[in-house]
Amino acid sequence: MDLEKRTVTLIRGDGIGPEVSDAVVSILDASGAPLAFEEQVVGQAAEEREGNPLPDRVLDSIRKNGVALKGPVGTPIGKGFASINVRLRQALELYANLRPVKNVPSVESRFNNVDIVIVRENTEDLYSGLEHIVVPGVVESLKIITEAASTRIAQFAFEYARRNGRRRVTAVHKANIMKLSDGLFLDCFRRVAAQYPDIAADDRIVDATCMRLVMNPESFDMLLLENLYGDIVSDLAAGLVGGLGLVPGANLGKTVAVFEAVHGTAPDIAGQDKANPTALLLSAILMLRHLALAQHAERVERAWLATLASGIKTPDIGGTAGTKAFAKAVVERLKSAD
Ligand code: NAD
Repeated sequence: MDLEKRTVTLIRGDGIGPEVSDAVVSILDASGAPLAFEEQVVGQAAEEREGNPLPDRVLDSIRKNGVALKGPVGTPIGKGFASINVRLRQALELYANLRPVKNVPSVESRFNNVDIVIVRENTEDLYSGLEHIVVPGVVESLKIITEAASTRIAQFAFEYARRNGRRRVTAVHKANIMKLSDGLFLDCFRRVAAQYPDIAADDRIVDATCMRLVMNPESFDMLLLENLYGDIVSDLAAGLVGGLGLVPGANLGKTVAVFEAVHGTAPDIAGQDKANPTALLLSAILMLRHLALAQHAERVERAWLATLASGIKTPDIGGTAGTKAFAKAVVERLKSAD
């Protein structure tokens, strides 16, 4: 039976974005997943062409399709336009950032039993972008934490735990210092936790969490964090399993979902056919499951794992294959499995 095609907004992004996006789209095509891509351009290229790095057409396309696959988009440091990534999440109310960090078979890493699901609040905190100069030489950056967003993200984490057989949610905070803001986040977490007696709940201070993560990562199950801590801890956790080339992500709202890797545009290797497409491929696998295309997700996953097992790997995880060669090897496995 032919499944109806689902249209997905595709943002190829900057730096290594186009390379990993093309690799992933070629693999999805070979998998026979019933997808059609509607490409949208954002960031510097859109600003130069249209005077706006995040034109309405992009938001309209994602709202219409309900799903987007997104490569990384660069943000000028210390000047220029506000992060497109942050604006997208805020404009589309993608309040939950889900980042499963797990050892990948056939990839050596410092730890072997890491299986942590990071849930990051995606819409507020210091990422609200509210900064101003009080007087020359003094700037103020506002950290916004609300009861509504903190409660919503805690509910998301516990619901996810229930649906996915996870046993513990650990809230990560600095409420010893930021007694009001992180204190509110923690209060909301504890109130929500009380409604889920079947899921264990505890909390830890963010600095101590980082130490424990690099000593005993296997002791964590799910982490729930505000926006900034979640961003930092995600990269740290990626390092535990072999790097940013391996960790996927999903930005989820009530009606819209944007799937993207944790990593950025990797300017140091952009254009060199060195990027690992795995992180975006695993994000695409999350997307296939979200679209109820579990069989296609499994086929892609099997072909990707078999490729790694055969020793074909990109340089970031100890191999010599380029982005294109790696993708081609996965495509060939998918075709030969037909
Ligand atoms: P980065 O994640 O781009 O790179 C950090 C390091 O990881 C680099 O050494 C890079 O080569 C390596 N790396 C990342 N992805 C890889 C992959 N797929 N394969 C192999 N190696 C990989 O972080 P950065 O350099 O701090 O940021 C660069 C730009 O990306 C900045 O403009 C930043 O704002 C942007 N960024 C965007 C997103 C996003 O679009 N969601 C996320 C993070 C950073």
